[in-house]
Amino acid sequence: MYKTEIQSITNMSLSELEALCTSMGEPIYRAKQMLSWIYDKGAAAFDQMSNLPKNFQRRCAEQCQVFQTSVGTITQTAYGTEKFLVHLHDGNVIESVLLREGKRVTACVSTQVGCAMACRFCASGLPGLERNLTTGEIVEQVLHMKKHLLPGERLTNVVFMGIGEPLANYDNVVRSMRIINAGWGLGIGVRHITVSTVGVVDGIRRLAHEGLKVNLAISLHASDDVTRSKILPINKKTGIKNLVAAAREYFKVTGRDVSFEYVLIDGVNASKQDAESLARLLKGIQCNINVLPVNPVEEFNWRPPSQGAIEIFCNILEKHGLVATIRKKKGSHINAACGQLRLQREKILWKKERYFVK
Ligand code: SAH
Repeated sequence: MYKTEIQSITNMSLSELEALCTSMGEPIYRAKQMLSWIYDKGAAAFDQMSNLPKNFQRRCAEQCQVFQTSVGTITQTAYGTEKFLVHLHDGNVIESVLLREGKRVTACVSTQVGCAMACRFCASGLPGLERNLTTGEIVEQVLHMKKHLLPGERLTNVVFMGIGEPLANYDNVVRSMRIINAGWGLGIGVRHITVSTVGVVDGIRRLAHEGLKVNLAISLHASDDVTRSKILPINKKTGIKNLVAAAREYFKVTGRDVSFEYVLIDGVNASKQDAESLARLLKGIQCNINVLPVNPVEEFNWRPPSQGAIEIFCNILEKHGLVATIRKKKGSHINAACGQLRLQREKILWKKERYFVK
């Protein structure tokens, strides 16, 4: 069992690790040596770091740990999608998904244990929010997936689209993005990092000014406030107008295109009129629209529209000059869609009258 998260190296930036080395009487270059072991060579323990003095290795092991999480079950599909259950030091479990599409290998990470947003079609929010993930708990998900790659494969992208609302765990998400991006860290370019948000407007505006320029995906799912508030309760607070204004600001400050996610739910937001209304809302915004049929979750009664209706919806968007992509449901048959596997496991725990580990 891992100790608390506090002493874990994966929580630390380069300068924090340098400060730790200095406080232990070692030269600062030890920090880079350690980071190279962890992020390039996949070391999981200090005694594997053979260019560090033995007694420093021992003192590090007394004071810190490399990892604070461990990998449990890995479930695979025929399409190269793999879902990892990741065990946290307090007994909680989260999930991460590795997706393969040609040369593109994407790590999809969780940012919270559970989620407070309670979106009406999403399994992650059903149990509510337990806690935020630490910086290291986010970074380690990427590391675990990187270690699991096949020979010759390279991790190309990281998306913050797993369990939780990334911008509700702002500081740890931004810290983890810096580590994932850093040359001394995982070295993934900002253009290959995407953060997906339900629409935390303050967070979007703050992120615009971090100097990070990562891709932003906004889970829009409706183009009028009545429908959006019905499926995404947070919309009652923010409203679509503010959200779209924040998206425009993100684009203006960072120069990065924003993408909008639109989950199609039959009878709710998938009609021709909905497509026309969405086209009016996004007119003049340089963006991509990722359309995906809702993945049915047992607890909710939503169904996806027919394939024909999905195509009609996208054709209308395209007719108005918008770029729409129909996303495939890569993981749904292994319940790899959005919190489902974790939910499945937690339900077994529910039966034992135990939910989150306190
Ligand atoms: N909280 C963030 C990121 C996590 S969810 C967000 O809302 O963007 C990642 C994406 O999966 C979101 O677009 C979310 O709306 C979508 N999603 C959640 N449950 C789904 C389901 N049952 N079917 C299809 N997409 C779903």
